[in-house]
Amino acid sequence: MSEETQHVPDLTDIREGDILFDCPYCGKNMAIESAGAGLMVPCANCGKAVQVPIPDSGTPEAPVATVPRPEIADGDDPQATIQQLDAALAMANQQIDRLLAEKEALQERRAFLEQIRITNSTRLERIAAELASLQDALDRALVLLAEVRTEKPA
Ligand SMILES: [Zn+2]
Repeated sequence: MSEETQHVPDLTDIREGDILFDCPYCGKNMAIESAGAGLMVPCANCGKAVQVPIPDSGTPEAPVATVPRPEIADGDDPQATIQQLDAALAMANQQIDRLLAEKEALQERRAFLEQIRITNSTRLERIAAELASLQDALDRALVLLAEVRTEKPA
């Protein structure tokens, strides 16, 4: 093995900033220096051409507005990370409780409005009936007025 041109290092010699990825064909864990991003390299295990992923080039994740994402940095104490995740989970649960309470309140409000709508439609029917009789009275008054104008004997 004298070829040094396309050497893909094993996990044994990962350096800071290296891109870590798996071969899509054989699943071999590979690492390559960041300058290799986007390049086609032969897999160290199966020899197939594999494209080195470009870090942070994917579509951005949909923002999760209400639940803060715990920041997991290199070298973080795993215990602290678990605590951060627990806190985020507790916050998410609070959000869910709040949303459920809100939904319940909205359902009550909707039932209330439905009741008002029924009451109001009864009122509107009565108003329409009153207006109809008012129209009749007006029509009769106009006939009488017309008779007055033409000076017909009653
Ligand atoms: Zn492979």
